[in-house]
Amino acid sequence: MQTNFTPEQLADPHVATSEKILRKCVHCGFCTATCPTYVTLGNELDSPRGRIYLIKDMLENGRPADAEVVTHIDRCLSCLSCTTTCPSGVDYMHLVDHARMHIEATYKRPFWNRLTRNILAAVLPYPGRFRFALKAANLGRPFAGLLKRFKPLEPFGAMLDLAPRRLPKMPESARPGTHPASGPRRGRVAILSGCAQPVLKPEINAATIRLLTRLGVEVVAPAGEVCCGSLVHHMGREEQALEAARRNVDVWLGEVEKGGLDAIIVTASGCGTTIKDYGFMLRLDLAYADKAARVSALAKDVTEYLSTLDLPQQEARGLTVAYHSACSMQHGQKITMAPKVLLKKAGFAVRDPAEGHLCCGSAGTYNILQPEISGKLKARKVKNIEATKPDIIATGNIGCITQIATGTQIPILHTVELIDWAYGGEKPAVLS
Ligand code: SF4
Ligand code: SF4
Repeated sequence: MQTNFTPEQLADPHVATSEKILRKCVHCGFCTATCPTYVTLGNELDSPRGRIYLIKDMLENGRPADAEVVTHIDRCLSCLSCTTTCPSGVDYMHLVDHARMHIEATYKRPFWNRLTRNILAAVLPYPGRFRFALKAANLGRPFAGLLKRFKPLEPFGAMLDLAPRRLPKMPESARPGTHPASGPRRGRVAILSGCAQPVLKPEINAATIRLLTRLGVEVVAPAGEVCCGSLVHHMGREEQALEAARRNVDVWLGEVEKGGLDAIIVTASGCGTTIKDYGFMLRLDLAYADKAARVSALAKDVTEYLSTLDLPQQEARGLTVAYHSACSMQHGQKITMAPKVLLKKAGFAVRDPAEGHLCCGSAGTYNILQPEISGKLKARKVKNIEATKPDIIATGNIGCITQIATGTQIPILHTVELIDWAYGGEKPAVLS
């Protein structure tokens, strides 16, 4: 694609990066067919190619974002399905990240939209506040229907629908600290505790720590870690995201200095995608660029790391698992086979639901901010999953677990909970 940026515009490193990305797009439109919003809404401006044109026009003309651009960029799930499809290697992720920063800096959102986003950014990344908000949601639950009838308040209704009625207790085994390997130590890793996941499903990290320590790996859950920054990063709040990234870089590199780390284990693929991008996000920060790149190189999804441990084949369990590959797993991190290979080795029969490339509609805060499109995608996803007639659904991202669980009665678990069970861990409570 031809671009017309001036030398002054290209002096801005963000514009220079976006210009390089834009030039790679050849307008072929292959990406439209696999874009969930184009498939759902049928509007070119809700396709990757349409959004690329809108972003190009906005940046080239040095214009503040307007309502039209914001509408179509807000509808993008950042699922990155387009990056998997694109034959020209267009780096849509960094382009849309830049567009979101530009929107945040130049556009004044309507009051209710601004308020909702401010609340989400102030609550979700902080486990204490998030836990409190979920408890308070029980009081607001009877008003969910009423809120959803008034368009600007719809996101609050969506939040109440998603909030679980009861919150699990944090198991002792998932608390910060060092969890020594049982038997001879064959590795040492840090684990990301996360923000929403330890409140909604602390069993995921508990299962990971149990499994890894049984396999001879020491696991450190370092104190001082914060949310990976993904939630606010996707809202265009770059400074908040970069502050979180810097803090985590310091904490993890502190652990490297203390005892060495073979990997930083991430059990939520949405967070993994962002941490693997810290090197890019902090590339312009001279004090952190190299350190962030080291952290990104160490970050591994738990299934990526488990694949290096050569687990033995287990007997068949007579249970069928539908594997839902989160977008951040398959498109963001390009991890497609490892989770399924591990599940098969663990003795499960694995099914791939149709249209596996399409997002379930969770996408961070998307199911709160865009409940209508999100609801359509969830219904489509659940239909495809249920068609495989599984006993269990497995996936590697807490957002997808929360989203899909509100649409089906089939138990849904994190992949690592099933692997832990198969290799001597506790049977997940939901299957008992
Ligand atoms: S990230 Fe997903 S929703 Fe956004 S343009 Fe690409 S395919 Fe479409
Ligand atoms: S598939 Fe790639 S090159 Fe083709 S329109 Fe989409 S982003 Fe551009």
